[in-house]
Amino acid sequence: MNENDLTLYIILGSALLFAFLVHVGLLVFSIFMGIPALIIHNSISIVSYGVAFYLLREKHPTVAGIILSAEVLTYGLASVFWFGIENYILFYFLMVLVMQIIIPYAKPYIRASIGAGIGLILAALLIVCPHVDPVFSLGRFAVPLMYFNIVVGFAGISVELLIGNFIKKIMENLQQKQIETLESHAYTDSLTGLFNRHYSEQFFKQLREKAHESGPYCVAMLDIDDFKKINDTHGHGVGDKVLIDLSAIIQRELRKTDTIIRWGGEEFLIILNDVDLKTARSILDKLRLSIADHVLKVYPLQIKFTVTMGVTKLDLHNIDASIVRCDKYLYKGKKSGKNKVVFS
Ligand code: GH3
Ligand code: MG
Ligand code: MG
Repeated sequence: MNENDLTLYIILGSALLFAFLVHVGLLVFSIFMGIPALIIHNSISIVSYGVAFYLLREKHPTVAGIILSAEVLTYGLASVFWFGIENYILFYFLMVLVMQIIIPYAKPYIRASIGAGIGLILAALLIVCPHVDPVFSLGRFAVPLMYFNIVVGFAGISVELLIGNFIKKIMENLQQKQIETLESHAYTDSLTGLFNRHYSEQFFKQLREKAHESGPYCVAMLDIDDFKKINDTHGHGVGDKVLIDLSAIIQRELRKTDTIIRWGGEEFLIILNDVDLKTARSILDKLRLSIADHVLKVYPLQIKFTVTMGVTKLDLHNIDASIVRCDKYLYKGKKSGKNKVVFS
């Protein structure tokens, strides 16, 4: 269940609880007044909220919301029939109308249809009721019931409006989170968890923007030696494990401020922050040795592998040319025996 669903369940659950308590109040009231029809109707309402709550727990918010809307409507209509509209029962209709707008318990078209229905009923009652006498006169209970209905109506509508803002904020937060997740997926290589090549564009753009405030950078292209042979001998699955293992070693050996990008199949672009070429070379040579010393255990195999790197200073005004230079030195390293760091 995501944050959005959870919010809906809490809000709809609270609305059901509120309606339930209102009917408990009304039941007490009707017992006090001694009106059997009202006692029966309120008891049915209380049971229907029990059912709605159960359905909400079983993850049927739409049905629970419809039961809530239908109950308020039928109770309101019955009350109008018995006692007329002078006791402000129409507030209940307004409350359930606002609910259709605020609480996203069902698809918008369902809520819009129910809302339109309530609006029509409300308009019809306002037109017809002043000309029709109610069946029952509430007598001395008319005033207390009126206050009860006014308080319930105001409390309900005010809380709904407050909740409306809350729901909007939660939804905006959730949308923002979804966008961030999508972006992070778009920039992450699923096999190694490293940044992928798409990320480099944005990364280099940011690097150029803060070029004046950060130290010199070096860039290296790292390529696994004879990787095809590893794949051919042990299978693609083992090849993948080598890629995952290698990524972990690079991340462990380099600093947090350095950036590692899976550039292509078995090629990695490394950007070292705040180092001159000599330091970069020694950092990368240490990395190369760690990789060469490492043994990947894939029972019963023990696999060793090496890498070759080409490294150069990163020219922030000409990044592509810097990467081409890296590639050139990498090629030199491959030609001259592999398992080495070539720089200029
Ligand atoms: P060199 O030392 O000259 O770099 O030789 P190499 O065999 O490493 O280079 P080559 O470019 O001939 O082969 C690279 C291989 O990497 C070919 C390709 O099948 C494999 N490869 C690319 N991406 C993946 C991947 O995601 N998983 C696996 N297992 N293999 C991959
Ligand atoms: Mg390659
Ligand atoms: Mg290779």
